[in-house]
Amino acid sequence: MIVTSDIDEVRRQRWVEPGLTWGFVPTMGYLHAGHLSLVQLSLAGNNRTAVSIYVNPTQFAPTEDLSTYPRNLAGDLALLEEAGVDLVFTPNDAIMYPPGFQTTVSLSQVTQPLEGSSRPTHFAGVATVVAKLFNIVQPTRAYFGQKDAQQTIVLRQMVRDLNFNLEMVIGPTSREPDGLAMSSRNALLSAENRAAAPVVYRALNAAKAAYNAGERSAEVLRQTMRAMISAVPQARIDYVSAADPRTLQELEVVADGVLLSTAVFFGQTRLIDNILIEED
Ligand code: AMP
Repeated sequence: MIVTSDIDEVRRQRWVEPGLTWGFVPTMGYLHAGHLSLVQLSLAGNNRTAVSIYVNPTQFAPTEDLSTYPRNLAGDLALLEEAGVDLVFTPNDAIMYPPGFQTTVSLSQVTQPLEGSSRPTHFAGVATVVAKLFNIVQPTRAYFGQKDAQQTIVLRQMVRDLNFNLEMVIGPTSREPDGLAMSSRNALLSAENRAAAPVVYRALNAAKAAYNAGERSAEVLRQTMRAMISAVPQARIDYVSAADPRTLQELEVVADGVLLSTAVFFGQTRLIDNILIEED
């Protein structure tokens, strides 16, 4: 496994054998089984697999958890080596944002609701760094998790708009046995908050059950989630949403699929999760 922070070295490796397909899994490290499930999809679908590990400062607001974001490069590299990854790109801020850097990739409609309304600068940071990573690695396919539902929609839109020559593949959300979506941020939860956090997925499932029982009022679905989450004293709701899965606008009536999603604070730690219900 090649581990490098050198952009030219990544490009050289990528094009040693131009006929080979490359899968690419961008991450911020502190890898868990969710990341590794994307790595497995890439290994199964491509001749070579590259992973990036980079905690991108431009997608964190000044008030957010950049400085406490968990990191464990040695542990991450051991997991990736064991999985059979071919190349790991581990840049730093000076490599990604050298002095004089001045370009931002920003999208309009799809970045505004949900995560974008709570984190107004987040998606410009994500789109900019992912555009850079795509240009550096030049993968055949790129792998992202459904866990970050809006991110998948934003990045698909960017790929379309900027004509990136790659295929986007979205993998399902990996969960702990109690249903909590795996996240590097789970490591930041106190024991008490960790015990309370599965309410997020329980609430999404309660809304899904209501939908399956015939409920089509989006407000009732949102209220179902709100009631369950706010019954847990450790939980502080940022938003609950029942939105159009394509535009991410809040629905009144569910007619053609719905993205149920929520962001909830437990202490300082903000967790997100979602369930996508496709159209009937
Ligand atoms: P991150 O390191 O949090 O930036 O995540 C890197 C990639 O892994 C993103 O595409 C995430 O959507 C994906 N990911 C994070 N958590 C999970 C999970 N629990 N299941 C599946 N994919 C995930």
